[in-house]
Amino acid sequence: MIEREPTPRHKVCGEFLSGEALEDLDALGIDIAALGAVPIPYVRLAAARRAAEAPLPFPAASLTRKTLDTALIAEAIAAGVRIECGRSVQVLSRTATGMWQAMLDDGSICEAPTAFLATGKHDLRGHSRPKDPQRWVAFKMYYRLAPAQASELARASELMLYPGGYGGIQPVEGGIANLCWVVQQRYLSCLGNRWENFLEKMQQNCPHLAMRLAGAEPLLDKPIAVTHIPYGYIRRTTQDGLYCIGDQAAVIPSFTGDGISIALHTARCAVAAFLANEPAPLFQARLRSALLPQMRLAEFAADGLNNALARAVLPFCLRIWPGVMRVTARLTRVAAQHADVAPNAVVS
Ligand SMILES: Cc1cc2nc3c(=O)[nH]c(=O)nc-3n(C[C@H](O)[C@H](O)[C@H](O)COP(=O)(O)OP(=O)(O)OC[C@H]3O[C@@H](n4cnc5c(N)ncnc54)[C@H](O)[C@@H]3O)c2cc1C
Repeated sequence: MIEREPTPRHKVCGEFLSGEALEDLDALGIDIAALGAVPIPYVRLAAARRAAEAPLPFPAASLTRKTLDTALIAEAIAAGVRIECGRSVQVLSRTATGMWQAMLDDGSICEAPTAFLATGKHDLRGHSRPKDPQRWVAFKMYYRLAPAQASELARASELMLYPGGYGGIQPVEGGIANLCWVVQQRYLSCLGNRWENFLEKMQQNCPHLAMRLAGAEPLLDKPIAVTHIPYGYIRRTTQDGLYCIGDQAAVIPSFTGDGISIALHTARCAVAAFLANEPAPLFQARLRSALLPQMRLAEFAADGLNNALARAVLPFCLRIWPGVMRVTARLTRVAAQHADVAPNAVVS
């Protein structure tokens, strides 16, 4: 495995672990409770001046990516994986003899008959995903909330809606909170492309967030950010011997909190396909069909969240009918639906 970061670091991510992710991590032998994960039994939706709460219909937790990625790498090493950290792949190409050849930043070459493409949000030249027309920008910031706000947030994941995007705040280990938000570039441009201006605007549009952040201490110098997230993308095909997984296979809208579970499941399914000698193009096509229905539903729901009328009525509806939130949460879970994507061969 070639990983460009020398050590795990903060990633832009809401750090919500859905029920499927918890199952996969458990199967890998990773004890997230021992790592300090916070159980998240509730979801709250806040828009304009309203907020509504519903219990989540599945177990969930939160854990910083730095802690999770550290544990995953340690587990891989313990399982015998050779990891080259701090080295990046510059080019991944196929040779005339059908081998996959990765050229690293120091010019050295790694060659293998099979490769797994797992570069997440970052595209490799020659394997790029299409451009994201809405030009989403995402930010993450850690805060130490004022004690009263930390106890009100308690063990909930709060989703906040505002024009141009949505954001979420939830507790993570160490008694701190993660605020992660997405916005379309054109809304950011209107505010001079400054995250501070947009954060202020978010709080004006969503007083619930202003309340949460009152007296909060920011824990990073500035938020970390990523741009151009191709939400809704599902890879159509691939070349022989190249299995694409995680965000390189599919990018589900962030509000579902399902990206990590898709990464874990697609990795597991790709390994099963590889061990069963299923050609990568067949695997990728099958994965696409399995992911498509839930992905489209998640996209439809994401469009709804960005709709002014929906923002006005959603929290009110949820007060009368919290079941809507439970149903949406259940229907946008992708991983459970494609758990059977591995071919029929026995994998031990
Ligand atoms: C705003 C936002 C909020 C989100 N919130 C959640 C959430 O709450 N819950 C959830 O489940 N999902 C969430 N997601 C989605 C989730 O972060 C991703 O789906 C998940 O991280 C994908 O995993 P991955 O392994 O494909 O990629 P990543 O986790 O991005 O890992 C890719 C790795 O590849 C390495 N790499 C990249 N390029 C190279 C290269 N050229 N050479 C070597 N190494 C390279 C990187 O350093 C990185 O470590 C969110 C996403 C966004 C944008």
